[in-house]
Amino acid sequence: MRADDHVRVAVIGSGFGGLGAAVRLRRMGITDFVVLERADAVGGTWRDNTYPGCACDVPSHLYSFSFAPNPRWPRSFSGQEHIRAYLEWVTDTFGLRPHIRLNSEVESARWDNEELHWVIDTPRGPLTADMVVSATGALSDPKLPDIPGLSGFPGKVFHTARWDHDYDLRGKRVAMVGTGASAIQIVPSIEREVDRLTVFQRTPPWVLPRADRRISGFEQWLHSALPFTRAARRRLLWTIRELQVGAFVRHPGQLRVVEKIAERHMKRAVKDPQLRAALTPDYRIGCKRILLSNDWYPALAKPHVDVVTGGLREIRGSTLVASDGTTAEADAVIFGTGFHVTDMPIADRVKGANGTTLAEEWQHGMAALRGSTAAAFPNFMMIIGPNTGLGNSSMILMIESQLNYLADYLAKLDALGGRAALTPRPEAVENWNRDIQERMRRTVWNTGGCTSWYLDASGRNTTVWPGTTAAFRKETRTLDLGEYDVVRAREGAPA
Ligand SMILES: Cc1cc2nc3c(=O)[nH]c(=O)nc-3n(C[C@H](O)[C@H](O)[C@H](O)COP(=O)(O)OP(=O)(O)OC[C@H]3O[C@@H](n4cnc5c(N)ncnc54)[C@H](O)[C@@H]3O)c2cc1C
Repeated sequence: MRADDHVRVAVIGSGFGGLGAAVRLRRMGITDFVVLERADAVGGTWRDNTYPGCACDVPSHLYSFSFAPNPRWPRSFSGQEHIRAYLEWVTDTFGLRPHIRLNSEVESARWDNEELHWVIDTPRGPLTADMVVSATGALSDPKLPDIPGLSGFPGKVFHTARWDHDYDLRGKRVAMVGTGASAIQIVPSIEREVDRLTVFQRTPPWVLPRADRRISGFEQWLHSALPFTRAARRRLLWTIRELQVGAFVRHPGQLRVVEKIAERHMKRAVKDPQLRAALTPDYRIGCKRILLSNDWYPALAKPHVDVVTGGLREIRGSTLVASDGTTAEADAVIFGTGFHVTDMPIADRVKGANGTTLAEEWQHGMAALRGSTAAAFPNFMMIIGPNTGLGNSSMILMIESQLNYLADYLAKLDALGGRAALTPRPEAVENWNRDIQERMRRTVWNTGGCTSWYLDASGRNTTVWPGTTAAFRKETRTLDLGEYDVVRAREGAPA
């Protein structure tokens, strides 16, 4: 049965992915849709990550929608508050507010084989939808490691993506667990106010200089008055990153040159040979995400900042114990330990045509067709699904490619007429993933000698796209009906 509340499309999530989908639907003339968001505001990543120093690490003129250019980005790598404001502006400018339902966490979504629609449960009541677009984000649900003794720690504990702004770090002994993209922005931003900072490092990252600067008033004016200057800037940023892909994907050996730049960058700031040794990675640059910072190494070289190698093993009262036995006293522990990437929580909540959840279907690893659709999940599309992540460029490019695929999906459904659904053929999903894994074999992510969050528990890379963004754009320009089965409503079933 259709709920009283039936829509043609239900989008889950209001980050770049969900808002982008909403804009595309409106531009197609579709107004019968909702965006279901669990939080009380739009913005996704850029609403949740408010830690000190939070900013993008892909230049803003590329890390933004092509259809919603912002000539007024204040810096080459703009801060969280500016990116969040941009997403609020997109929401207003494209008339998305009436479609957005906040505080509407999708608790479950189940495909109804009889009615050919999705039945969705939210705390604000159920609804049904012909199609679900899941844009719940790959870096959305924080992951806390299971550290023995953590529950007995008497001080403050929080994750970087859930920063506690009421907690005053001034004069405190703080432990930062992890040395990833968030930690590298936080440590230099807080080290001046804390009494002592201990950084627990399991694996050192490769760090390159960050070409960040204020974008002058004149440049901003120029980009407003002469839009082709902004477009040219974006094009240049995009081209540089496309040219890097060959080294990551086919010729990782070429990245040795980049390692030299990173080594020099560290040497300039870290004079202590022992610390330098501890901070030097033993894997090929690019295998884990390359980080950009000018103040990470200078911060680590300060006398009140300690780097403990080996990672955090256990906590005894207020004493933190590293796996090499080193101990540190702390008043607060900040976990920069990443997100549920290869075990995305929405997969537990979505049940397809076989009555099984996506997580059950993916027990041997995530797999989708063109990063977007999954076998036995009719009229279900993921924005930023498996193997759509990038090591060096803007995720917005991938999202916009998937919006093309979504538009063609809906157009093809329309053309079929009557009540129908599209579900990818299992062999099409298999072929796509076989090809991806084949291409993955030579990449730096698989051969670079590191373990990273790009790999799942079995060591398969189900997160990164092994190619250029242009290649992905081509692969998702249209939906090939040959890769799909058409499911039709039974004759006599109620319309
Ligand atoms: C700190 C940080 C910095 C980053 N910097 C960059 C960068 O510089 N360049 C780059 O390309 N990428 C960057 N990324 C990756 C970034 O996540 C993507 O670029 C992009 O923001 C993803 O958008 P999204 O809409 O797919 O997901 P998100 O922005 O994560 O949005 C997902 C939304 O879905 C909602 N949601 C989840 N589950 C449910 C549910 N069950 N029901 C209802 N709502 C739900 C969430 O509340 C959230 O609002 C960064 C990520 C982080 C964490």
